[in-house]
Amino acid sequence: MTLSLHGTGVSRGIAIGRAHVIERGRLDIPEYHIDKGQTAAETRRLVDAVSQAKQQLRAIRTHIPAAAAPDIAPFIDTHLLMLDDAVLTQEPQRLIEAAGYNAEWALQLQRDALVHVFDEMEDPYLRTRKNDIDHVVNRIQRILLKQKPLRHEEPDSRLSGYVLIADDLTPADTVLMQHHGIVAFVTEYGGPTSHTAILARSLIIPALVGLHEAGRYVREDDRVIVDGNAGVILVDPDEHSLRYYRQRQQQDKDYYAGLMRLKEAPATTLDQVPVRLQANVELPQDFEIAREVGAAGVGLYRTEFLYMNREAPPQEEEHYDTYLSVLDTLAGLPLTIRTMDLGADKQANGRRQGAAAQANPALGLRAVRLCLKQPAMFRTQLRAILRASAHGNVRLMIPMLSNMQETWQVLELVDETKAALRAQGIDFDADIPVGAMIEVPAAAVCADIFAGQLDFLSIGTNDLIQYTLAIDRVDDEVSYLYEPLHPAVLRLIRMTLDAGAKAGIPVAMCGEMAGDSKFTQLLLGLGLREFSVHPAYLLEVKKNILESRLDRLTAAADAALLAASAVEIEKLLEEL
Ligand code: PEP
Ligand code: MG
Repeated sequence: MTLSLHGTGVSRGIAIGRAHVIERGRLDIPEYHIDKGQTAAETRRLVDAVSQAKQQLRAIRTHIPAAAAPDIAPFIDTHLLMLDDAVLTQEPQRLIEAAGYNAEWALQLQRDALVHVFDEMEDPYLRTRKNDIDHVVNRIQRILLKQKPLRHEEPDSRLSGYVLIADDLTPADTVLMQHHGIVAFVTEYGGPTSHTAILARSLIIPALVGLHEAGRYVREDDRVIVDGNAGVILVDPDEHSLRYYRQRQQQDKDYYAGLMRLKEAPATTLDQVPVRLQANVELPQDFEIAREVGAAGVGLYRTEFLYMNREAPPQEEEHYDTYLSVLDTLAGLPLTIRTMDLGADKQANGRRQGAAAQANPALGLRAVRLCLKQPAMFRTQLRAILRASAHGNVRLMIPMLSNMQETWQVLELVDETKAALRAQGIDFDADIPVGAMIEVPAAAVCADIFAGQLDFLSIGTNDLIQYTLAIDRVDDEVSYLYEPLHPAVLRLIRMTLDAGAKAGIPVAMCGEMAGDSKFTQLLLGLGLREFSVHPAYLLEVKKNILESRLDRLTAAADAALLAASAVEIEKLLEEL
């Protein structure tokens, strides 16, 4: 019988395939006591499991194909090193021998103790390492409990054409998805603007998040249909549904082929107002796609990916080489490099749960706050960006600024870095534009002050909505309240656009709202002339721009700003 389950669609499209269910988090860890005479055998059981875990990881490592992302190997090495670390394995052995605990439980107690130590750590980067402990412990416990190894971690698994079903995804999972040719994914947690969702959109496959208990209802190898538009998954679909969705797949294909014809057309409204349409980019392959869809440049390069799945943050040369290769792909198009925005939903390593160490990670030490707290790491990136600016059209963009002190500190660090490069005779663009993301309501309200000190602004609606409406962007329980059309959000957008216009500096929008074609006309009406969107959505936004007439839209946007609710604004948009 066909079962339909509902979540939040975060990446559009239809996929039909078999399910691969990752059941990492659902281990029931038994607790029982071992007789005195049996503790040596129990210890051996643990030691054997650790050695099997190592074998599994070594096998994965040797099978990594040359074309895989370069960060898979260090990710696996970290886990191998942990398996060799006495801290992880000796205390459980002592617990087995002294207290007579079973191996699984002894390991669990040590896991809890280690996680507690990590939680207490000042350094947020190190704090995220506890996710590695969870992954490694989980691997050993699966072996102790005689569970099968995770299929997607086996490089030889035949998962091409499969749909991944998981509680949540690690960055490594996302990379492995690519490696296997996974055609869609469904997670139990996460909201539409969680980093997982954004990263997965880069893979241009349909995706749903917030589908609670998905793993309970979908079994390995079940046939499933994923409808990323409607946020629905059909399990064990009947012939009629299969026929319908195959037809829809073909229609989508035709629609996108039609959009490709707009690639060369200048993004101009019917009344001849030019609009800049740039791309948001994250994974290396995004740059190529940005060019393929005719983006006017990159309005947001999220550099967090460089920091993920690895032991130490990247050094200057790695940053520099990456930026040069990106500039090379862009062949003269402008590149806006956003400095590292780790923390909250973007952990350097591991799973979303890692963020739970802080009571309110989204309000904590993230993005520029983290950079200013760790200036050495920040300088490394600034030096690389400045050096890259000698070789192309580079802009420097700072995330999460909330006050001018931070802004002045950043500008001072940029000046210091320039002076150091100058003293070393290293080339850079002395006039590199420095801009801010406006994603904290305080910054939007004071956008005029920011605009007076910076060369450009870019509205990050993902965070701006989160902070304005007090909605955790990764919490699916409250995602129904995450409302881009809330009048407060629109007013902050208008304030920012007005402030930029008054100061004579460009204001772009790079949050997901800019890429949602439902909002294109409203945003044009509010005065937005620079959109930065995921390349997959760029041509659809362009189509809307080509069909828009600004005089009508300006009046509608003014009315929207006076509306009492999102529902009213939605009605206004429908009439357009
Ligand atoms: C945003 O907040 O809108 C944004 C573009 O940044 P990120 O999604 O990377 O936080
Ligand atoms: Mg943001």
